[in-house]
Amino acid sequence: MIMANIIDGKGIALKLREELKTRVEELSAKGTVPGLAVVLVGEDPASEVYVRNKGRACEKAGIKSVQHTLDKDTTQAQLLELIKELNADHEIHGILVQLPLPDHIDEQSILEAISPNKDVDGFHPFNVGRLITGNPVFEPCTPRGIMKLIETTGVDLKGKEALVVGRSNIVGKPIALMLLAKHATVTICHSRTRDLEHAVRMADVVIAAVGVPEMIKGDWIKLGAVVIDVGINRVEGQGLVGDVDFEKACFNAGHITPVPGGVGPMTIAMLLVNTVDSAERMHETKAQEA
Ligand code: NDP
Repeated sequence: MIMANIIDGKGIALKLREELKTRVEELSAKGTVPGLAVVLVGEDPASEVYVRNKGRACEKAGIKSVQHTLDKDTTQAQLLELIKELNADHEIHGILVQLPLPDHIDEQSILEAISPNKDVDGFHPFNVGRLITGNPVFEPCTPRGIMKLIETTGVDLKGKEALVVGRSNIVGKPIALMLLAKHATVTICHSRTRDLEHAVRMADVVIAAVGVPEMIKGDWIKLGAVVIDVGINRVEGQGLVGDVDFEKACFNAGHITPVPGGVGPMTIAMLLVNTVDSAERMHETKAQEA
């Protein structure tokens, strides 16, 4: 018998975006229109779609979105110059450089050049450090969205066995820290893990962020577990598929996210939330200085 509650990421994200509109209106009425600058270098088709979607989502929320599309041959120095300008622009509260960048550009130097105060992706070492020490300013969007989804299940993370599969800087590592901050007992698995199945079987919460279609089998999932599937894999004949065998996992999980319609919509919603948070903070600082 299927027992899982399907977590409606799309619906939750839409609600968040609706709520955000009010905050944007209030802030705009006080003279600060939240502004997000999105920088795209080159012509990666997937990145172009992401950037377009982010721009549209901003517009709908009343956030000013400025897109900078740079030629694939743009030098690192040119990109750094643009970031410097955006750092100094008072109408911009968030800066996002779409990854991946072309090979001739050093990604880390670019991420570190973004002002930590405008780092809506939360990738600057300052914000990573704040997250590690338990004083987050900007939390990265996908993990922040995942925590929101878990919150909606009503499951208390305190003392729970939480498993993160994947250790990337953008998903695996930060979500592990956030789960830890909520007092879960956190395990991180990766490509060298010897017995992933055992780890999954023990977990009350599973976060799958790997990028391998349906690698986590449905019958591995502990009865009643919360399963958050971050994976987005395009499989011929099947369309988009997650890292978890969703259909079978539904028999064991207590709560599970679908792909698509789970984590994906939350990532964009959280980018908007981070931008508005930033604009509110900057407005507050300006008001105190005046
Ligand atoms: P990365 O490729 O950066 O990291 C993948 C991780 O999975 C690595 O840590 C890797 O281990 C681990 N891994 C690979 N193979 C295995 C395996 N067989 N067993 C256990 N672990 C394994 O991916 P991202 O974190 O950037 O993304 C993960 C997935 O999430 C992708 O499908 C991506 O498209 C999706 N994604 C979705 C987002 C959304 O908004 N929904 C946002 C971001 C990503 P190792 O470190 O040892 O190599």
